[in-house]
Amino acid sequence: MNVDILFENALKIIKDDLSSLSFTTWFEELKLIELKEGTAIFQVPMAIHKKQLNNNYYDIIQKAFNQVTGTNFELEFLLEDEIQARKEKERPKEEENKQEELGVPQSFVNKSNLKSNYTFDNFVVGNSNKFAQAAALSVAENPGKMYNPLFLYGNSGLGKTHLMHAIGNYIVQNSNRKVLYVRSDQFISDFINMNKKDEKGTNFNYVEFFKNKYRNIDVLIIDDIQFLGGATQTQQEFFHTFNTLHDDSKQIIISSDRSPEDLKLLEERLRTRFCWGLTVNIFPPDFTLRTEILKKKIAAGNFEQDIPEDVIEYIASNMGSDVRQLEGSITRLVAYSTIMGGAPITLDLAIDALKDFISKGMTEKNEIARIQKIVAEFFQINVEDIRSKKRSANIAFPRQVAMYLCRTMTSESFPKIGTEFGGKDHTTIMYSVEKIEKEMKENQDLANIIEKLKKDIG
Ligand code: ADP
Ligand code: MG
Repeated sequence: MNVDILFENALKIIKDDLSSLSFTTWFEELKLIELKEGTAIFQVPMAIHKKQLNNNYYDIIQKAFNQVTGTNFELEFLLEDEIQARKEKERPKEEENKQEELGVPQSFVNKSNLKSNYTFDNFVVGNSNKFAQAAALSVAENPGKMYNPLFLYGNSGLGKTHLMHAIGNYIVQNSNRKVLYVRSDQFISDFINMNKKDEKGTNFNYVEFFKNKYRNIDVLIIDDIQFLGGATQTQQEFFHTFNTLHDDSKQIIISSDRSPEDLKLLEERLRTRFCWGLTVNIFPPDFTLRTEILKKKIAAGNFEQDIPEDVIEYIASNMGSDVRQLEGSITRLVAYSTIMGGAPITLDLAIDALKDFISKGMTEKNEIARIQKIVAEFFQINVEDIRSKKRSANIAFPRQVAMYLCRTMTSESFPKIGTEFGGKDHTTIMYSVEKIEKEMKENQDLANIIEKLKKDIG
């Protein structure tokens, strides 16, 4: 039985045994990586899943697998990094064994290794990524014709890998072209393998394997090209691969964390070629897009509980612009609520659940801190007091002034300001802002003070 079907069947049995909330929380993102020598290895999204699955669901999973396969498997839950690390370790040995065993290189046929859940349909488009998305879509519709190569670059977590798989999936579904997706470090290791010699002292098989893998395709997607950096010989090989494919009008799609010009470790001739087609920068999502992405992920997650608007706004304003981080926040939030016995997902719960993950050193945060400092100096109190929960009048009033200034002088949301003032509820901030506004109208002294502070803040 195919491993995927086996896992699907086991999941069905498990699903019947559990509440849908626990199932979604702990099993939705569970992936069966392999069944080997009596052990089933799973990939989990976070350490907390590992613990939960080991402590509370081990027997249920084992039983379900037994029902499907008639075998008792040991279970192992690993994070993506751990799996990667293990593969790194095992790779050379495994490949050697396989080569020896077969006397020929590994399978010549590449099953498409695209992630089917990265599609255009579930890629949310906004100002920051609409050009990248449009370029990706034209390439998907006209591979090898319009923009060759397509070079996507931008910071981590902005959707480059997602878009590349989306292109690949689109092409595979709408034509019979062969698509190969690799990360550049995989290209390096294939290249290194090619130069190995087999027991007869030749490397013919490896060369054949490499050529077949990289030349006998219609679309090459190569992710994170920056890792090609120091590997000079590999660069040469990549140069040849690139030329061969490009001369044949085969589509090449490349991503990187920086622009071609900034890939300083790459040979000039490669960098020039990268600019032959279309180079697109993908930018960090703004608040609106972050909110939309969050909503889309929440809808796709089918969680038992609704996630309220203010919580979404809180996540969108506090977790930075790395979409991976935004996704992680939701997972964590839902997991946290489950651990708290299905506690309702409220703003307070969210602040608590995510407190260790709030992105540090964001400029906006500095801006709030700066306003707090200037206000504290003016009223001659401690800045720590402004950020505390203390209620005495000599502190509460300056704090309200600072809140008012943060709200009117920065683009920060009420929830975000709340967390910077001792974890205050956003209604408290709203109340303070209104109160100061009202008092300013009635009290010219206060209006003058605020005017002066605004000047100081600039
Ligand atoms: P990168 O390769 O740029 O580091 P990824 O493509 O791996 O980023 O994206 C990280 C995560 O964020 C993925 O799960 C991806 O699906 C998601 N993601 C990023 N941008 C979007 C978007 N615009 N719409 C939906 N999901 C997105
Ligand atoms: Mg990526």
